[in-house]
Amino acid sequence: MTKVVNQSRTRVMDAALRERARSVIPGGMYGHLSANALPPEYPQFYQRSQGAHVWDVDGNEYVDLMCSFGPVILGHQHPKVERAVAAQLAEGDTQAGPAACMVEAAELLVDRVAHADWAMFAKNGTDATTICLMVARAATGRNKVLAAAGAYHGSAPWCTIRLDGVTPEDRANIGYYVYNDIASVEKAVAEAGGDVAAIIVSPFKHDAGFDQELVEPEFARQLRALCDRIGAALVIDEVRAGFRLNDGGSWEPIGVAPDLSAWSKAIGNGYPLAAALGSASYSEAASRIFVTGSFWFQACPMAAAIATITAIREEGAIPTMVHIGTLLRSGIERQAADAGLPIRQTGPVQMPNLKFEDDDDFARARVFSGAAAAHGVILHPRHNWFISAAHTEHDVDRILAATWEGFRAVRKQLGGS
Ligand code: PMP
Repeated sequence: MTKVVNQSRTRVMDAALRERARSVIPGGMYGHLSANALPPEYPQFYQRSQGAHVWDVDGNEYVDLMCSFGPVILGHQHPKVERAVAAQLAEGDTQAGPAACMVEAAELLVDRVAHADWAMFAKNGTDATTICLMVARAATGRNKVLAAAGAYHGSAPWCTIRLDGVTPEDRANIGYYVYNDIASVEKAVAEAGGDVAAIIVSPFKHDAGFDQELVEPEFARQLRALCDRIGAALVIDEVRAGFRLNDGGSWEPIGVAPDLSAWSKAIGNGYPLAAALGSASYSEAASRIFVTGSFWFQACPMAAAIATITAIREEGAIPTMVHIGTLLRSGIERQAADAGLPIRQTGPVQMPNLKFEDDDDFARARVFSGAAAAHGVILHPRHNWFISAAHTEHDVDRILAATWEGFRAVRKQLGGS
């Protein structure tokens, strides 16, 4: 067993668990939470989480800039959410059927999200995007769906990022366009020959490993007009950005309403819940499709969602995240200039994204994030980070102390001092 030492951070338990995991978990760990692809300074296993901080199994504490890849929007163990979950748990969670809070959660989402007249619940973002496509197909009687090339909509065969285990037939009804390029959408529509059930789009282009790109309002409006013209459903995948940009649908500020939207991650502050939302004209089709899951009607995540969505508004979570994200972005900008290292920070400040220039192989990003982890901050080398409403200015100072060590490590890697 290798004992990894970072600064004063020992990781004996983590190394032991990784070794045991290699025997009983494929690849030792799979999917995007696998630390195998991360710099060696990253722990794989965590012990506890509180507010904006997490502790690994060896007791090392970190500022958490990943927020579990988005779900944790109010901070880990937010008291109002935990109280709502504890109260529901005392009554029951996985029961003979849903609890009253299912209706209350649906009413709250319909109230908050302007385009939505109904809600269906599931567990993961993939469930929600897939349900939206099934509803669109049931409503239109058509087969094809157009998605932006490189966009992530989940890990089902129709959209997962690797083709192992996927058949050509799984992808046969998916066409691709270029984000923010309406001509490419028109071309994909023409290629689909009148068989387009839906166009799926994320609120902004947030593909991992690339600069982020905000939606051009004109592109959003053109997509809406195009869907209306060809009778296809416009589906927004809110799974990653939902409730971090706007206290309703992410495109509400630009006045573009989808027909269907897919939500998960932040709606339950970490409790497992997803939702497909839709407008009234898709309600009949939604009632016809057969989708379900053994755990989809658990009451605790729904109680968590009610508390979370209520607190996001009551506690001004979005302005807090914008404030913290702005401080962090300007601090990192200054550090990069001081270190003489050209970087690009793109996308909304609540979902920070940093790319080093001349770093297509992410070598600099790896060294940077490895040094950050060694100095007590969890941030990903290729994926956007997530601010929560629990991050404070003090956390920003701690993050900046770690990112400065990251910039120094990159300079050293490049042969500087
Ligand atoms: N859509 C987007 C935009 C996502 O970011 C994700 C998850 N990263 C998904 C869908 C799939 O969500 P899940 O992993 O919960 O299935």
